Amino acid sequence: PLVLGIETSCDETGVGIVRGHTLLADAVATSVDQHARFGGVVPEVASRAHLEAMVPTVQRALDDAGVTLDDVDAIAVTAGPGLAGALLVGVAAAKAYALAAGKPIYGVNHLSAHIAVDTLENGPIPAPALGLLVSGGHSSLLLVEDLAGRVVQLGATIDDAAGEAYDKVARLLGMPFPGGPPIDRAARDGDAGAITFPRGLTAHRDMEKHRYDFSFSGLKTAVARWVEARQRAGETVPVNDVAASFQEAVCDVLTRKAVAAAKDHGIDTILLGGGVAANTRLRSMAVERCEKAGIRVRVPRPGLCTDNGAMVAALGSHLVAANVEPSDLGIPADSALPVELVSMVRHEARA
Ligand code: ATP
Ligand code: MG
Ligand code: FE
Repeated sequence: PLVLGIETSCDETGVGIVRGHTLLADAVATSVDQHARFGGVVPEVASRAHLEAMVPTVQRALDDAGVTLDDVDAIAVTAGPGLAGALLVGVAAAKAYALAAGKPIYGVNHLSAHIAVDTLENGPIPAPALGLLVSGGHSSLLLVEDLAGRVVQLGATIDDAAGEAYDKVARLLGMPFPGGPPIDRAARDGDAGAITFPRGLTAHRDMEKHRYDFSFSGLKTAVARWVEARQRAGETVPVNDVAASFQEAVCDVLTRKAVAAAKDHGIDTILLGGGVAANTRLRSMAVERCEKAGIRVRVPRPGLCTDNGAMVAALGSHLVAANVEPSDLGIPADSALPVELVSMVRHEARA
């Protein structure tokens, strides 16, 4: 199927077009520069930027793919989770396009879409697979039994998301927002073994109760304390070493728990998804450790890890192919859509 996907859950207005598993267009407009001076995404600013970018970005994607709206078989849109106002602009636009062009609409889960994007590069996902979803708002281990509807969360962060930790640590090191890319770069010139930062929820007793959960807020505090102590002593902060050591702690825990979860469940494929999956150290460590454990690892290219429309189109295409029922035009944008709901069929009250 030819599917157009719309993504507006945060600060990227993404429109992707895929045919089956083939990516035809991936147009992204971002309002990140408008948020940078605030050190985080400002919801009202993001919503307005989506509104302004929507029609031109859809048009650019159609042009890039060399297709028209009439050629499209279905429209997929991120229905949640994300910023309520930002999601609303995307959902409303998708409904408008669907209605005007007479196409079915699929309101899909942003988190499943971060996993589904991998099909564009590496083909169908073997079932079951273990998803390590690491982004600005989430850090979870997912049991992906069937991308068309059966995704189970094994564990998640109990405080900050991995991307959030990158953003906060970057800020205290004086780096710009979003903090993932500058830390990734600085870490290349640093010594990852220079400072031993805590590995959250990996102690023996934590592994019993929180085997598949993450915690990054203690790590962020430890980095802050370490940096403050240097500054108080009038010493220069070895920024590259701090970045590398912090990054090592994050990636160590993420990969260790993902491999453990895969082994526990007899799963031989780990999929990485979400913005933090663009991280060079996470990618190399995942490859190393999975190889050692006899597990296949699949990671989309960095440009497809951060938010984009292609991931939404990829999931939409999978749902169409799997004969999943399209969504009612009355579906809402749900800022807290649970990960288990891969797509939203109608406006249902949920517990
Ligand atoms: P969610 O998907 O949970 O709704 P989001 O959509 O805002 O959150 P993404 O766009 O998936 O998040 O990812 C953004 C996050 O990824 C930011 O926190 C950013 O710092 C982080 N990130 C991006 N590139 C890298 C990198 N190279 N290394 C580490 N983190 C990165
Ligand atoms: Mg973003
Ligand atoms: Fe995301």
